[in-house]
Amino acid sequence: MKEIISEDFKDALLLATDPDASEEYFPEYVAPFWQDQKLVATEGHIMLAIDEEVALQYVSKDDYEHLAKPNINALLHRFLDTGDCDLTRDELERAIGLVPKCDYGDCEECKGSGQVRVNYRVHGGQLYALNADCPVCSGTGRVYLDPRKKVPVDKFPMLLDGQYFRSGMMYKILQIMKLLGIDDMAYLAPGELSGDGYVPIGFRYKTDRGDIYIAVMPNGIDEGKAFWHYNKCLRKKDAVKIKLTPNGKKDDDDPEIPW
Ligand SMILES: [Zn+2]
Repeated sequence: MKEIISEDFKDALLLATDPDASEEYFPEYVAPFWQDQKLVATEGHIMLAIDEEVALQYVSKDDYEHLAKPNINALLHRFLDTGDCDLTRDELERAIGLVPKCDYGDCEECKGSGQVRVNYRVHGGQLYALNADCPVCSGTGRVYLDPRKKVPVDKFPMLLDGQYFRSGMMYKILQIMKLLGIDDMAYLAPGELSGDGYVPIGFRYKTDRGDIYIAVMPNGIDEGKAFWHYNKCLRKKDAVKIKLTPNGKKDDDDPEIPW
């Protein structure tokens, strides 16, 4: 694992949460939390789970609450640990590079809110602080993106091991891998197919002090429906394929079989 700093570590966790989720109904989505010797961040479609000993190098126990739900170990146990394929960061970066880019994005000045705080001093000397429309984006919260800062559209379909995933989720995984200095992760195939046919897949990265897991939920494709904000109707064949790399070994934990 590369030398990573606490800020990058926390940023990686935040990528997997949804700070706008309802605190009342989905407290587990709002902020990272501890559960069963793991630090967990999730927003329902993606989950980052990090063994406590790894996490405590970058955060303290007091930084996050302990939450009993969702049951992380039950989810992780659904994965088949075949351990013979990897997802490499290079491959994910290549595939994400093929996803169309957003023309518009959040305004950096007002962080997408459209509002800024300004101070105004009247002639008598009294100082007032008030909200105003952000001058950079005219209060819309959105700006035309510099070509170098364009990000992939969120809802483009990507195909991995026979299931379709939203490009936005895969882009988050790429960003998390970069922040945590991960070059490749072991692919954990889904176990039994559930009734609706969608099953989460997972990835595992081993460190000396413990493991880092990323799990992600697939999405269905509505053939013939516009899949993202462009008017183009996408089909399954339009999906960008993400290739797994055979790593030539079975499970790391398997003892050598004596012949
Ligand atoms: Zn703005």
